[in-house]
Amino acid sequence: MKDNMRPPAVLREFSEFFTRKGFSVYMVGGAVRDFFLHKTAEDWDVATNASPEQVTSLFRKVIPTGIEHGTVTVFFKGKKIECTTFRREEGYSDSRHPDKIDFSDSIEEDLSRRDFTMNAIAVRLPDGKIIDPFGGRQAIKDKIIKTVGNPEERFSEDGLRPLRCVRFASQTGFTVDKDTLESIPRCISSTSKVSRERIRDEFIKILLSPKPSTALLLMERTGLLELILPEAAACRGVEQLGFHKDDVLDHMLKACDFADSGNFNVRAAAFFHDIGKPECREWSREKERYTFYNHEKKSAVITEEIMRRLRFPQKTIKAVCHLIGMHMFHYEPSWSDAAVRRFAVKAGVENIPDLFRLRIADSAATFAGPGQNIPPAAENMLLDELGKRIEKEIESKSALTVKDLAVTGNDLMAAGIPAGPVMGQIIRELFSTVISDPANNEKEKLLKIAEAFHRKLSAK
Ligand code: ATP
Ligand code: MG
Repeated sequence: MKDNMRPPAVLREFSEFFTRKGFSVYMVGGAVRDFFLHKTAEDWDVATNASPEQVTSLFRKVIPTGIEHGTVTVFFKGKKIECTTFRREEGYSDSRHPDKIDFSDSIEEDLSRRDFTMNAIAVRLPDGKIIDPFGGRQAIKDKIIKTVGNPEERFSEDGLRPLRCVRFASQTGFTVDKDTLESIPRCISSTSKVSRERIRDEFIKILLSPKPSTALLLMERTGLLELILPEAAACRGVEQLGFHKDDVLDHMLKACDFADSGNFNVRAAAFFHDIGKPECREWSREKERYTFYNHEKKSAVITEEIMRRLRFPQKTIKAVCHLIGMHMFHYEPSWSDAAVRRFAVKAGVENIPDLFRLRIADSAATFAGPGQNIPPAAENMLLDELGKRIEKEIESKSALTVKDLAVTGNDLMAAGIPAGPVMGQIIRELFSTVISDPANNEKEKLLKIAEAFHRKLSAK
């Protein structure tokens, strides 16, 4: 194996600020791993023997992003570079934080406290000398994820590492080393102590990886799924013959893999879309199969609980649960234009592309054969048609949100309708009138309807 590489020009230039003052600096972490994977890295981590204060004094724009861990972020030539002072850690009595952080003066010592061998390679700047004391490059060649040192010790020190392990498996497609994998169940109690925010961030990376089911199945095998998402673990073995060949968990995993990569909301909705099924399953004697009435509503409720628990922002929770709650819509070409408008209003025009993506993932998971992605042609055609009909409605003068109404609150006030709950009621009435018949979306007509409705309300 070569013992040199050519670091990116920006990093070589960056390193001169350190070497000029007698400090040493190394490229480390994900960017080095990605280099050996022939991928270009987006952000860079470097390790140095300069203290955070010394790094801060070397550059103009520095943000103390993790000063308690010795990390500052430097903005250099349009790049964000995370600089961490060499660390040495001792004792992790709480499985989350080292009891004390000591700065070290050796890169080897710094590498020895890193999680996986593929993440424990350093490249000296500016000359590109490779420091690889744990065989990280060989592990990358062999496509193996393996802890630096004893896995049980490393996982008990920081309970996030088992999750990082399965996350890297689904990001890289690598195999987890046998000992490393077998240690995870024995260290579950350390993962239970990790903050929900850190777990959430790993979960997001898992769902955005090329094949989330890789990590999620490893989580199931090792007990991490039961710990973090027991509601999903409970979907294993829930058969749904008559609808799907797969049990509920396998179906959700497939839908998640099929869902648009890079779109967290759709991936999350696809993974959770049937999570309410175990609670809604009833045997129908008449149909001689199970039924799952209203499972989409139950799934949305359970997903909301899970996402709150994992401290997702309210906006994301709302968007994902809305998609799940709507995923059972059943379009038929016989729908009237008014039915199309009502559907668009209920879904929210801005959510329709994601809702369609979810449906495509769901039906691909239902109909695709093992290992192949058969595009569900009939479903695609129906969605295509519905999409076009909604487009047409958007282009017409019809109102698909209250903002599209041809009258404003001010117009209504000028017509003598007081602001407040009555006004709200009248606006809703106008909106539903326009959805039934867009020809009513004219100011004069709407004012007349509003006044008549107001008179009716006042007479009550
Ligand atoms: P990505 O940025 O894609 O998440 P990464 O490998 O760069 O992947 P970071 O979280 O950015 O991961 O961390 C940078 C490096 O710091 C890692 O490559 C690893 O060497 C080390 N590291 C990060 N988190 C841990 C941890 N919990 N335990 C030990 N080492 C860690
Ligand atoms: Mg990184």
